[in-house]
Amino acid sequence: MTLQGKVAVVTGGSRGIGRAVATVLAREGAVITLCARDRVLLEKVAAELESLGAQALAVQADVTRASEVEQMIGACVERFGQVDILVNNAGITRDNLLLRMKDEEWDAVLSVNLKGVFQCTRAVLRPMIKQRSGRIINLTSVVAVMGNPGQANYVAAKAGIIGLTKATAREVASRGITANAVAPGFIETDMTHALDPELQEQMRSQIPLGRFGRPEDVAELVAFLASDRAAYITGQVIHLNGGLWM
Ligand code: NAP
Repeated sequence: MTLQGKVAVVTGGSRGIGRAVATVLAREGAVITLCARDRVLLEKVAAELESLGAQALAVQADVTRASEVEQMIGACVERFGQVDILVNNAGITRDNLLLRMKDEEWDAVLSVNLKGVFQCTRAVLRPMIKQRSGRIINLTSVVAVMGNPGQANYVAAKAGIIGLTKATAREVASRGITANAVAPGFIETDMTHALDPELQEQMRSQIPLGRFGRPEDVAELVAFLASDRAAYITGQVIHLNGGLWM
């Protein structure tokens, strides 16, 4: 186990990629704090982790609300004494063509997908700086570098995450903290199941490995970046997309 004694926070840990990340980090020995807005789902995942022998804390929190983020990180430090790993995974889509995009659709996506990452990162920096160690892993997307019609808000937020990750990495490297971004292609989750089946098929046909990724594919990469084996990697964007973008 590579993460024995580490304490991890996973935002959006109740479903999809976040749930798989929490499970793999727990398998590697980490203690997990999970947040999302739906308390019922969150507690179900925490119970699953505990049934695997891990310690888990479920905190209902909306990453767009700074006070809830501060409370969630506070609850983690109070319960487990530290925070070693932050996985900024919570994300939403509100797709529309630019010409038709409403202000609310733009604001909602930027608020969860970019401001949420900023707020969670700011909240963990004090304890991590005090510890002089930490791992921050941000979920961006292949579309941040490829663009995608109908997703200007999402693409802008995910491209923003790449810049935020690099700025974070430069600011805190001297304190023993690394910050990296993981950029998945199309992964089988609720987010992609919501896409039009024809569009899904069209996307699949462009993937050299011939399939969408699984949440576990992403989780294994996150677990590596969270471990001591990735100690010399910072400010990077690591792509995993079945060859969709090279
Ligand atoms: P998902 O299945 O839709 O799950 C999203 C998670 O985020 C849920 O746990 C959700 O829980 C939580 N969440 C949403 N808004 C939140 C908020 N305001 N505060 C706290 N939690 C919130 O999504 P996914 O496909 O696993 O995606 C996870 C991450 O990977 C996202 O950042 C996404 O952009 C990125 N990504 C996904 C793909 C893909 O193909 N699936 C590809 C590239 C990147 P609640 O709704 O209960 O809050």
